[in-house]
Amino acid sequence: MKYKRIKGTRDILPEESWKWQYLEQFITKILEQNNYNLVRTPVFEMTDLFTRSIGEETDVVSKEMYSFTDKSGKNLTLRPELTAPVIRMYIQNNLNQISPVIKLFYIDSLFRQERPQKGRYRQFHQFGFEIIGTPHPESDAEVIQTMVAIYTKLGIRDLKVKLNSIGSRDSRNKYLETLQSALEQHKTKFCSTCQDRMEKNILRLFDCKSQSCQDLLDEFAPPIIDSLSVEDREHFTQVQNFLKISGVDFEVDKKLVRGLDYYTRTTFEITSSLLGAQDAICGGGRYDHLVEDLGGQPTPAVGVACGMERLMLILDQIDTIPARKNKLVYFAVLGENAREKAFEILCKIRNRGVTAEMDFMRRSLKSQMRNAGKKEAHLVAIIGDNEIEENRIILKNMKLGKQQEVTVENIINEILKQLNEVEV
Ligand code: AMP
Repeated sequence: MKYKRIKGTRDILPEESWKWQYLEQFITKILEQNNYNLVRTPVFEMTDLFTRSIGEETDVVSKEMYSFTDKSGKNLTLRPELTAPVIRMYIQNNLNQISPVIKLFYIDSLFRQERPQKGRYRQFHQFGFEIIGTPHPESDAEVIQTMVAIYTKLGIRDLKVKLNSIGSRDSRNKYLETLQSALEQHKTKFCSTCQDRMEKNILRLFDCKSQSCQDLLDEFAPPIIDSLSVEDREHFTQVQNFLKISGVDFEVDKKLVRGLDYYTRTTFEITSSLLGAQDAICGGGRYDHLVEDLGGQPTPAVGVACGMERLMLILDQIDTIPARKNKLVYFAVLGENAREKAFEILCKIRNRGVTAEMDFMRRSLKSQMRNAGKKEAHLVAIIGDNEIEENRIILKNMKLGKQQEVTVENIINEILKQLNEVEV
């Protein structure tokens, strides 16, 4: 085969695309009920938007971005995440003027040059939502609670919410010094990337995938939670309090710092054992300085992003997406005049909201009927030149196994009537 899809990308085939549509509509409905507004941003942005927000030393920026120079010499990058683009949009379009607190959501594709495996792709999709404009802990709790509600309504039972606080910038900077002095004497025991990161951005050690580095951190790194200021602690306690009020179970994971630099205070992840090695369905946190860092007014915010492919992997296992309700009306046609009449009825009936299809292969009636069966048509309208002359169409109800003759004038009404009678 000459052309194949790029490694780490996926084709969504007809039988799967229904599930994607169902899921996107499901998510949209719940987020709209929670008063989030859909936004869409461009697929590519200035590279600097991502380096500046996500951080030079993160895996995403240092290893995984699809960056290129366009013909005018601009450095551009296919978005590897959506929070920075949404914040860029928020600033550029003065969305702060709409309301002091604004709630946005997205469902879109993103790109990271990671090592492809189950649940990890190079082009993948996320839905995510952000509450921009408030520092208060109830908004952190709302984001987590809303995500848990979506999963629960989708029938997912096996969830674990892991929660941590990495403090405000000030207390984190103090922590970084503590961490530096605690790890300094063990530096050579870490992998070369970690050693390099100890110089440049020591918090990123927690992202290392090597078990021996993680063991060293368990042994020697002081928990970040111990370095929180009084205000940070109070915020963290309040987030937990609001989560309890909302009935969300969680556990504190002291090592959860998340792999992007912009987070402050709350960080969280939701995992499912149905996912195997890549077990995080979603991750998020508070980012109180991002708007300011990208050139806007100081504006606190909190958000979350969920991997759609991973969500789909879970839903495939628990099988909770209902089958498509396909009430197809199939027009089996024989002869020139019949074809014209059938085409006319086809166009009219679609205008009445009916899913209808006509044979385009000009095959024998037998193979048209076989085709209708394969497509699981509910009704088949059989139209031949003779029938048109005699003003009658045979309407076969495949579900009830009955057929009757209907006049051309009555066919649309009869189809609508029978479709409403069909058990689905
Ligand atoms: P992040 O943007 O890294 O915080 O990731 C948020 C969520 O996106 C994760 O919990 C995953 O569900 C999903 N995700 C991240 N990277 C990938 C990937 N390469 N392929 C598929 N899903 C991903």
